[in-house]
Amino acid sequence: MAHPSRVKSKIAGSIPHMPFQEFAANTLELLLEELKKAKIPNARIEVSDSEDGRHYACSAPLVNVLVYTSHSLGEEQEYKDLLALYQYCPDCKNAVRVL
Ligand SMILES: [Zn+2]
Repeated sequence: MAHPSRVKSKIAGSIPHMPFQEFAANTLELLLEELKKAKIPNARIEVSDSEDGRHYACSAPLVNVLVYTSHSLGEEQEYKDLLALYQYCPDCKNAVRVL
């Protein structure tokens, strides 16, 4: 019998950044790659342009990157659980985990 705490520490995959962590990302693709490599269980990654979000440093439009898990609740019903939200500035090549 495995000890419960030991089992927990063996769960593969977690978000590779702390909330509000800022980090450099040369391209959006590299950031997505990094998130995929983290092997977050059942995670899906979605990219969307943010309409209202502009980078405070350069006022370029930010790109939102959502990491969520999705559970089917039967016919055409889906429950989405947002795990993390990143905002990426393609001009500054800078990403922030905002959630
Ligand atoms: Zn910027």
